[in-house]
Amino acid sequence: MIVVMAPAADAVEVEHVIARLVERGFDVHRSTGAERTVLGVVGPTADLDPAELSLLPGVEEVVRISSPYKLVSRAFHPGDTLVRVRDVTFGGEEVVVAAGPCSVENEDQIRRTAAAVRAAGARLLRGGAFKPRSSPYSFQGLGEEGLALLRRAADEQGMALVTEVLDPAQVPLVAGYADMLQVGARNMQNYSLLRELGKAGKPVLLKRGLAATIEEWLLSAEHLVVAGNRDVVLCERGIRTFETATRNTMDISAIPVIEKRSHLPVIADPSHGVGIRDKVPAMARAAVAAGADGLLVEVHCDPDRALSDGAQSLFPEQFQALMDQLRIIVPAIGRSI
Ligand code: PEP
Ligand code: MN
Repeated sequence: MIVVMAPAADAVEVEHVIARLVERGFDVHRSTGAERTVLGVVGPTADLDPAELSLLPGVEEVVRISSPYKLVSRAFHPGDTLVRVRDVTFGGEEVVVAAGPCSVENEDQIRRTAAAVRAAGARLLRGGAFKPRSSPYSFQGLGEEGLALLRRAADEQGMALVTEVLDPAQVPLVAGYADMLQVGARNMQNYSLLRELGKAGKPVLLKRGLAATIEEWLLSAEHLVVAGNRDVVLCERGIRTFETATRNTMDISAIPVIEKRSHLPVIADPSHGVGIRDKVPAMARAAVAAGADGLLVEVHCDPDRALSDGAQSLFPEQFQALMDQLRIIVPAIGRSI
């Protein structure tokens, strides 16, 4: 349930409504817009009579939200949420591009790749140090040593760093190196990880699960917000379908659907979305044209020798060409890059 306060409601009236709800055992989350304050009421609201609340001074409207997620819904926060990661803002006019290898492999690889993606215009460096691999025999990542290499390469290029955290116990370690913490597709419904990230004090990039509906994905985002972290960016990365011609089916339609249902920024990962190098630029262009707030792109200085996801990683020149194309597309949709 949400309580929409009147534009003229003063702080005393807002506090009075909050106090009444807290007294009844509800958690209250406040969304302060330019015009008005909206209160999100979390708890068993079935027994709460909207009429009772609407009589309180300063209350304009009490609305039951039919979706199971509340705090991430547009109804609760009609404006767009801006998520700041150092000097970069997701959800505003700029289309924010994060790029880098699937995994950090060694110092030379990450430094060369970081320099190349920075020169092409990427704002964040991506790269995994802890890798969720389908096979236990595949490269599992360099662990903490990889985090240190990523941090140094990002600093050298003046870039923010996004990297994956696999386990709740690793959150403080990864948060010590990264500017943004990625939750991988396989962990979208790892609720103990989401709870821990609620307290991490760093923005979270929440990837869509391999077979997750948009509603399940938004409910995972709701877990993060309820646990105390409002800085959540969603990432569409393709889903499992019956189609086998591509690694996953990139659900471009998820982008406008999310934009309508949620105030959170949504970006797209065309690399995992399609899984085949020569098709990545087309999916990246389509996602941006569809309204994505950014991209997460795998780029490797020598993709044919990559230890993970080489087949979907762009050569630096391909990434440069993609960025040049995006610079032509974004003005048409009122954005910048
Ligand atoms: C990745 O970004 O390298 C990754 C493992 O992605 P996903 O969780 O989407 O498979
Ligand atoms: Mn990958």
